[in-house]
Amino acid sequence: MVNEKTFVMLKPDAVERRLVGELISRLEKKNLRIIAARLIRIDKKLAETHYTELKEKPFFKELVKFVTDGPALAMVVQGPNAISVVRAMMGATNPFNATPGTIRGDYGLDLTKNLIHGSDGPESAKREVALFFKESEMVG
Ligand code: UDP
Ligand code: MG
Repeated sequence: MVNEKTFVMLKPDAVERRLVGELISRLEKKNLRIIAARLIRIDKKLAETHYTELKEKPFFKELVKFVTDGPALAMVVQGPNAISVVRAMMGATNPFNATPGTIRGDYGLDLTKNLIHGSDGPESAKREVALFFKESEMVG
């Protein structure tokens, strides 16, 4: 087990639906640690940088519009194997395929508005954490 940091975002649909407390609670009950958190309105440039790997996808414009449409909760979450643990807790990208018991499986019904983002590997975790947070904003 490696102690990892991962970037997690509760997307605008989660904030709009007042699910922030419930979703944070799931991460905390798993014994993951929130070491940074900020409620932000993501601008177009930041959204495009964050999702740069998807810029050729047909859904890119819709995705950028959605994540910039309202406040989101950006977080850094830490714990043993935190990257894959959070991904497992999120469930499949498409909530229709996500297993009940996962966040998307329990709360989602829309492929774009699927509640939560989590880094998909060590490289993206490093890049995304640094994109949203300064070292001094994370508790040790
Ligand atoms: N998405 C979408 N349409 C698709 C696939 C993805 O709108 O056909 C959105 C969805 O919000 C997803 C995000 O784009 O969470 C990023 O896609 P990715 O494949 O990285 O999925 P994730 O890593 O979030 O499961
Ligand atoms: Mg992804």
